[in-house]
Amino acid sequence: MTQIEVPIVTPFIKKLSTPLTKNKITVLQINLGKRCNLTCSHCHVEASPKRTEELSSEVCAQLIELIHCFPQIKIVDLTGGAPEMNYGFKPIVEAARETGKDVIVRSNLTIYFEPGFEDLPDYFAKHQLKVVASLPCYLEDNVDQMRGKGVYNDSVRAIQRLNQLGYGRNADLILDLVYNPQLPLSNKFSLTPNQVKLEQDYRKFLKEHFAIDFNQLFTITNLPVGRTKFHLQRTKLYSPYLKFLEENFNANTVEHLMCRNELSIDYLGNVYDCDFNQMENLGAKSRTGERLTVAKLLEVGSLDLIDEIRTASYCYGCTAGCGSSCGGALV
Ligand code: SF4
Ligand code: SF4
Repeated sequence: MTQIEVPIVTPFIKKLSTPLTKNKITVLQINLGKRCNLTCSHCHVEASPKRTEELSSEVCAQLIELIHCFPQIKIVDLTGGAPEMNYGFKPIVEAARETGKDVIVRSNLTIYFEPGFEDLPDYFAKHQLKVVASLPCYLEDNVDQMRGKGVYNDSVRAIQRLNQLGYGRNADLILDLVYNPQLPLSNKFSLTPNQVKLEQDYRKFLKEHFAIDFNQLFTITNLPVGRTKFHLQRTKLYSPYLKFLEENFNANTVEHLMCRNELSIDYLGNVYDCDFNQMENLGAKSRTGERLTVAKLLEVGSLDLIDEIRTASYCYGCTAGCGSSCGGALV
């Protein structure tokens, strides 16, 4: 039986000079479900083709109402699993675009080659979705090791298709790529590389080898959640990794944390401060201590019911070095 290591780090909240508070909510990140065509080794959602959890029609209808009711939501950010595979994807996209919001789809790219999903690139372009696509390295071996054999070649083909449609080339069709590090195999940890420098390397390699264009590269730190956490526990690196992240705490990242202005919603309609808290079942709490749901937000008529963001030791992953978020480095 795997022995669970007890983390020996300073509680994250004690590292902060003031409590971590919410700003006005402008981003609604919806995790549509755990269904995915891939089973990546680092996945914090533990998504896979075998998972069946996804949005219900009832919660989908509540989310569409929320999108219509709150002009303060500027960005609807769709994630999963593969968000495109889970119930509610297209209706939510269309509601958000009709109400003038920007929509981000966090796409694994390979989904476009699965039966029934071939129309996705055209659909994205038609609705001018911002595509944030995982490509954890520009080299084939590293990608296939993390995501499965053949994923790199499919990802390249998918990006080329997006480029043909104007993604990464036309100003209104944005394609950003996401780098995340390999899982550590020893306690010689390193910080996530410099985003600007790595973006140059990606751009040069992908252009020379595949004539690929993209907008920005986002570098993301692996937080010890989900499969990354299991890997670290299995290799007895969980506590050393947390300590490493704590040692590299950068207070300048705190005001830019993505949890400051977003609500994260799960497939059941529960509200969290971010997707990592969602996976750890650390539900957001209102200022009166209540757990929140989409139904509750609609009933009260406000998105701004949370004062203090709930934190845990994995928050050190967002604040180490240059910081990390769904939009890449923070400082
Ligand atoms: S990391 Fe993304 S693509 Fe990979 S299994 Fe998880 S949700 Fe699917
Ligand atoms: S994991 Fe990151 S985004 Fe989530 S609450 Fe902690 S600091 Fe904020």
